[in-house]
Amino acid sequence: MANQPAGQLLPLLKTYSLLLVLLAAAALSAWAVYALPAPVVDRMLEADLRKQATDWRRRILLHLEDGGGTFLSGQLDAHDIEYLSLLPETTEAYRIKLFQADGRVLWSTRPADIGTVNREPYFQQIVAKGAVYYAQDSKPVAQIDGFETRDTGAMAATRDVAEIYTPVLQGGRFAGAVEFYADITALRETFLNRVRISLALVSAVMVAAIGIVSLTVIRTNRFSLRQMQQRAAKDQEIMASQMQLAREVKLLGELNEWLQSCRSLDELFKMVSEFMSHLLPDAEGSIYVFSNSRDVLAGCASWNGGALKDHIRPDECWGLRRGRTYEFGASEVEFTCAHAVPHDGRSYFCFPILAHGETVGLMHLRAMPPRAGDFATCKPLAQMCAEQISMAIANVRMRDQLHDQSVRDPLTGLFNRRHMTESLRKFLSSSALNCARLSVIAVDVDHFKKFNDNHGHDAGDMVLRAVSTVLDKACDGSEAACRPGGEEFTLILPGVPPEDALTRAELLRQAVEEITVSYGEKTLPQITISAGVAHYPAHGLLPQDLLRAADEALYAAKAKGRNQVCVAATSAEAGQDAEWRAAEQAASARGPAEGSNKAG
Ligand code: GH3
Ligand code: MG
Ligand code: MG
Repeated sequence: MANQPAGQLLPLLKTYSLLLVLLAAAALSAWAVYALPAPVVDRMLEADLRKQATDWRRRILLHLEDGGGTFLSGQLDAHDIEYLSLLPETTEAYRIKLFQADGRVLWSTRPADIGTVNREPYFQQIVAKGAVYYAQDSKPVAQIDGFETRDTGAMAATRDVAEIYTPVLQGGRFAGAVEFYADITALRETFLNRVRISLALVSAVMVAAIGIVSLTVIRTNRFSLRQMQQRAAKDQEIMASQMQLAREVKLLGELNEWLQSCRSLDELFKMVSEFMSHLLPDAEGSIYVFSNSRDVLAGCASWNGGALKDHIRPDECWGLRRGRTYEFGASEVEFTCAHAVPHDGRSYFCFPILAHGETVGLMHLRAMPPRAGDFATCKPLAQMCAEQISMAIANVRMRDQLHDQSVRDPLTGLFNRRHMTESLRKFLSSSALNCARLSVIAVDVDHFKKFNDNHGHDAGDMVLRAVSTVLDKACDGSEAACRPGGEEFTLILPGVPPEDALTRAELLRQAVEEITVSYGEKTLPQITISAGVAHYPAHGLLPQDLLRAADEALYAAKAKGRNQVCVAATSAEAGQDAEWRAAEQAASARGPAEGSNKAG
């Protein structure tokens, strides 16, 4: 009970209060029914009997021969006595006494009283002053004249008796009084019963009225309480939705801020997965992004257990085909997207992701079973997320493009001179730190000027691109193929020892020899390259030294007749190389070199 909320406690309290009020009203009524009637009835009887007694006195005075003078003279004739003796039979009085002014009984229906004197104070103080004196008392039945003859049943031992003194005035002076004794037991009982019945009826009506009024008040209160509770629940709902909205806005802001600082698409999709699982916890989702060729979309991210396919085709999605959000589960007739198969009938959204007017990809959201009914409500928020994600994808792509443009050569796509120098510096400092080897191969196309002269600059460009492709394919992982300028190329091979570098250069030379380039209708003649190989630290510790050594080796290859590979001279640094080899062996004995160097 103590733990019950106030909302449940209040009606209980009201019910108990109503019961208490009704009980109190019933008790009050019972008390009124039993306690009130007696004094009321006695007052009514007194008034009635006072009037009757005055009436009886007037009748007596009319019938007495001498009227009021009888009381002064004290003389009654036979006719008076006969009339007086018959009076108990024609009135309710069972005993009648005639008093003279001094209180002496002149005549009485009970002869024994005649001649006795009433010396009670009320006689002189009230009756002698012309007022009616009334007294009511219980008297034993034995004292009631003629009672045995009037009543035969089992009676109470006492009877209610009224004693009324009515004064007789003669010429404005007190001449005497007439006293009447009346048995009012039956009358009183009848009056009492009547009044009790009336009071009981009135009380019953009052208790019923109190009950009805209280019930009405409680019902009204309960109704207003219910209304207040409903209003409070609605307020709570509004508050919760506002808090939810504030949370979503905050998360969206945070998502936007994080996405702005993404440096790669991989990083971006990791963040998107994390944020989406918080922003839309009741929907599983996935993101697909168009490949460069735009013929397929690659699966990039998923959250809350959303299915992610490696690739989907644009025509597999109704959202992409119709160029607007597709909502499955909102219409009577609808078709499932092929990329959403297998489909269990759950509602889903396909939001095309647009940036700068171009479709970048697709966000697919599917209702999760427990809250599937509310799924449609998440559409506006999901739409906002899709817009933010699309802008972020476009930004990262643009940044990638700008970065590529700054580090890559536009004709071949290989790294440019600036990037080559920077990466070589980074690789060399890492090699120095880890005592790791590094090789550089300088490549130059043979007699390229003549080739250009013979076949034109465009054909020359095609050849340069073909050679670049061969060189690029030859590089793995952190290795970098660069085009510092013209028909010259450089390969940076971190961790590659001299023997392997020489082999790799020779393989490259052979691969270029095998290149066949078609230009228009004709097939261009075979091209060859010369290459010079230099190693760190044998041929230099600084980038420019190493590059110079590779170039010198390249010139040597040219001088030897071209289409061949030469290794840089090592005589000057022979001693230094021996020292470094010792350091390398010590490093490898400690364990594998830590850290990896990436080109780009
Ligand atoms: P060698 O065997 O000694 O290297 O002779 P070579 O003719 O290749 O060398 P040279 O330095 O005399 O000529 C290089 C030529 O490369 C000159 C220039 O026309 C050409 N070239 C440089 N850059 C480009 C380019 O971007 N496209 C084309 N098509 N040709 C280029
Ligand atoms: Mg050259
Ligand atoms: Mg050349």
